[in-house]
Parts: sequence; structure tokens; C-alpha cells
Amino acid sequence: MDDNQIKKIKGLLSKEKTIVIIPHKNPDGDAIGSSTALDSYLKKIGHKSLIISPNHFPKFLNWMDPMKKIKIFEDENELKHKILNCDIIFNLDFNNLSRISSMKDCVEASQAIKIMIDHHENPKNYCDFIYSDPNMSSTCEMVYHFISMLGDVNLIDYSISASLYAGIMTDTGSFRFPATTHETHNVVSKLLKNGISHSEIHNHIYDNNRLSKIKLLSHCLQKIEILKNFKTCYLFLTKDELERFDYEKGDTEGIVNYGLSIENIKFAVIFKENINDNSVRISLRSKGDFDVNKFAKDIFNGGGHKNAAGAISKLNMEQTINLFKKSLLKYKNQLN
Ligand code: 5GP
Ligand code: MN
Repeated sequence: MDDNQIKKIKGLLSKEKTIVIIPHKNPDGDAIGSSTALDSYLKKIGHKSLIISPNHFPKFLNWMDPMKKIKIFEDENELKHKILNCDIIFNLDFNNLSRISSMKDCVEASQAIKIMIDHHENPKNYCDFIYSDPNMSSTCEMVYHFISMLGDVNLIDYSISASLYAGIMTDTGSFRFPATTHETHNVVSKLLKNGISHSEIHNHIYDNNRLSKIKLLSHCLQKIEILKNFKTCYLFLTKDELERFDYEKGDTEGIVNYGLSIENIKFAVIFKENINDNSVRISLRSKGDFDVNKFAKDIFNGGGHKNAAGAISKLNMEQTINLFKKSLLKYKNQLN
């Protein structure tokens, strides 16, 4: 984001505004962390801000919203008015209106000034201000830089730091994914200086599991299929299986990474049948050069990053897996 844009945003924020902050659908640690951090900051500088999430977020993120202030779009019809009548809309951790599904029309219709802060590839050009950087580890890292560019790094307090840390930690797989840079660590160091407890945040997110979630993990590990010739592995979960293990939102997050931890595996995929319809949610991960963003986009109209992407298939499970296996043939060279 250049100086001129920052100057304009500073001008916009110099008078009290009504602001809506939107994370992507099925928000993760980075989406909720960046939203709660930005919300606290905007309130501190005198704005009326409100977070509206397209749908519910996993329980292990509740600690970031202790007063339950985050509104859920699919639960409350009158939230449409808030979006249509606000001055500014922040789009956090997504760069394409398709990522907020049912909120899309309302955001499109709103005359509010739109600001995007996001680290995914290929941003769509629908915002007045776009702070997009696919080299960044996370949107939380970018929100830190954003507040800092506005000259307000001193306003990053304990609770803003905790939210930002949580998003950086989750989106970097605890600081191991390739997008983790010295600058990421530099930001984290500054957050730690604000007194947050990294081990407490880790416990909130990773050591707070229901037994049924761990049993579901064990079930998944049993189901991994290896496609040796393609250095690929996958597993799938049907609605029945999810119900059997008392599935709750967030329960399968991270499971796909176990596939990648197998020796000689470069590409890992999990297919999960949606509880409400027959569509299939796909999570794709890779190690090294294999570009899952491209694979997700070409085959399933999804997207994300080079080493982590997602998509939704409208085909049923069997058809989706067949398409996946057939498509691997085209990528055999890249995978070997
Ligand atoms: P996950 O597998 O954790 O849901 O998503 C991995 C990455 O891909 C995330 O950065 C996420 O934002 C992106 N992503 C997930 N699902 C979709 C999708 O349906 N479309 C696009 N364009 N990106 C997705
Ligand atoms: Mn993110």
C-alpha cells in the first residue's frame, strides 16, 4: 500500500465513521484474529465498528470475542441494513466476493468505501483500497503493518496483540510454512513485547479438543489413501462419518497436513461432504514447488495459496474423487 493511499485512508479515518468488518466464510484464526484486532483498533481511534461474519466460527476462537460481539450474517436479517448503511467496509483475509457467499449481493450493493487487507493470490478489483500481498504470512501480519503505516503502532495493546498473534500462528502452521519470514518473526517479537503469553494462546487453540474430535482424527489417519505414482495422498469423510464423530465446525482443520508429513508425499487432499447439502469441501496442501492454488483453480474453481488451497465441488463425493484422480494424470510430471 503506497503512501498516497495511506494518506487517503488516514483522511477517511480522521472523522468518526460507521465501519463494518467482514472476514471470509468459515472464518479461521487469521480471519477472526485480524477482524477482532482491527475492530479494537478502530474503536480506540473513535469509530463505531462492527464485525459481521458470513457464518459461525469454530469454538476454539471464542476467546478472541469474549463479549460475543461478532454478528453472524446468516442468523440476523437486519444486518443487511448495517452493511448497506455504513461508511466503510473492511474485507479481511479474502479477495473475492465469492468467499463471503450469501453476503456478496449486500456488500456489492453497499455504497460504503471498501478496503481490502488480504494475502491471497489474484485479488479481484472490487475495492476502493486494496492492500494485497501474497508474500505475507497472514492477514494478521498485514493488519499489524496497516496500523503501523497509519502511525498508530503504540495503540497495539495486549488484546490486539493476542488476536494478531493467534492469526499469525495458525496461518503459518506455528511458524513453519514457507511464507513465514524474518519480518513475520519481527512482528511476532513486537507482539510478545506487549505481554501476551504465546503458550496460553497455543493452549486455547490446540489443546482444547473434545475427545470426539481426537477420535475423528484417528479415524481420518486410518483412511489415508496413498497414490504412490503421484506422490499424493487423500482421504474423504462422508456426512455419516462426520455425524458419527459428533462433528463440529473446525474439527477437521489441520488434518490434511498429516498426509503431507508422510515421506515422499508432496500433495495431500481431504474431501469432506457438507452437512447441509451434497457438495464436497476440498482442502489441498503441498510441499515445495507443486502449486495447489493452480490445481484448485483449474480443476475445482477454487483457490488460495501455492501450498494451501481450498475449493467446493458441486459433484457428489464419488464423482469429485474420480475427477481428482483423473486430473492427477495431467500433473504427473510436476509431481515427480
Ligand atoms: P482451507 O483448506 O484451510 O479451507 O483453505 C486453504 C486456503 O485456501 C485458505 O487460504 C483459504 O482462504 C483458501 N480457500 C479455501 N477455500 C477456498 C475456496 O473455495 N475458494 C478460494 N478461492 N479459496 C479458498
Ligand atoms: Mn489468512
